[in-house]
Amino acid sequence: MKTAIKVIGTLKEAGFQAYMVGGAVRDFLLGKTPHDIDVASSASPEQVKAYFKRTIDTGIEHGTVLVLLGGEGIEVTTFRTEGSYSDNRRPDSVEFVQSLEEDLKRRDFTINAMAMTEYLDIIDPFGGKDDLQKQIIRAVGDPDQRFQEDALRMLRAVRFSGQLHFVIDVETVSSIRRHAQLIRSIAVERLKSEMDKIFVNPFTRKSMDYLRDTTLTEYLPAGYLFEIDWTQYTPTGKAVYGWFYLLYKQSKSFSEVSDYRFSNEEKRLIEKSLELARLEFWDQWTIYQYSIDQLEMASCVTGKNMDPAVAKEQLPIQSKSDLAASGRDLMQWSENRPGPWLKIWIEKMEKLVIYGELRNDKELIKDWFVNEYRRHT
Ligand code: ATP
Ligand code: MG
Repeated sequence: MKTAIKVIGTLKEAGFQAYMVGGAVRDFLLGKTPHDIDVASSASPEQVKAYFKRTIDTGIEHGTVLVLLGGEGIEVTTFRTEGSYSDNRRPDSVEFVQSLEEDLKRRDFTINAMAMTEYLDIIDPFGGKDDLQKQIIRAVGDPDQRFQEDALRMLRAVRFSGQLHFVIDVETVSSIRRHAQLIRSIAVERLKSEMDKIFVNPFTRKSMDYLRDTTLTEYLPAGYLFEIDWTQYTPTGKAVYGWFYLLYKQSKSFSEVSDYRFSNEEKRLIEKSLELARLEFWDQWTIYQYSIDQLEMASCVTGKNMDPAVAKEQLPIQSKSDLAASGRDLMQWSENRPGPWLKIWIEKMEKLVIYGELRNDKELIKDWFVNEYRRHT
């Protein structure tokens, strides 16, 4: 917050208006540490860039510049409204305006539409503080219009309910119900990012209840998958865990949710964890073959009480490269050339070492290999 106040100070000295806005103000009033602070200012992006040494153009077409100061990054956005919305998602253009109020008016919910000065005075034209106290998520202005402008806001309302454990105002919720089908027009990347947040938020179940209650599940890609009993779900801080959880509970494969466009890394983690969770029993070889992340996710749903990091540490080796003998050694001892046989023998060696039947010692491995190899050839 100190850094944001410095940024505001610099802008104000230069004659511009500048305030902290949005989630940071909300979190400050809730006594939470905001994870990032946004500043809104009357300065244009070019003007912002002129007053700070280090900046990054993170969204200059939307008026946003990231100011780097003292190891922190503060997003400074020029006061703006949004042009017309022709397609229920994102404005066709943004328009810079001179007043803070205009800027606050375009924001989604009253609790997200407050500003704060460097002296911590709150500017709250839509009763956000009151709603914060009552723990209500309420659209700024006419909910029908706001959801027609940008249908993602419906999912955001649902997301914030599970983030804050707030209820959604009745008119806002009935408007979501009326407009639920508009969620189809939203790019999957934006949907996934909100779903990811729902899965890591402390009250996932609350969001899931709203998702079903508003009928959004009927229009989201693979939405029916979200209609499970979430009472046993405990968020882990990892969004992939939520995706894995719902697939596991319904015995589905990854392809069921692939419309959400996962990274290769996420996809692998989900697939491997599903495979692992469905194994009937785990032994040392299982622990060896799967990663800590995969073991963690799978043990959560299977009720296996284990610390994967500890279990892995107890193994004699962590990977092939820890073996006391290499492929080169095997070739030398067998006087054989590289080929498919090598892979087979390395795995034999790995298994014996993992199961504790062969000590990871070069001489012992050599004795074993020379003997066995002769018997097999
Ligand atoms: P979080 O703590 O999860 O980051 P946040 O309130 O900061 O919550 P962001 O998605 O980071 O949420 O958005 C920052 C602010 O921008 C919001 O508080 C809100 O004022 C505004 N905002 C973001 N997305 C929209 C949207 N689709 N429509 C209207 N206003 C929005
Ligand atoms: Mg934010």
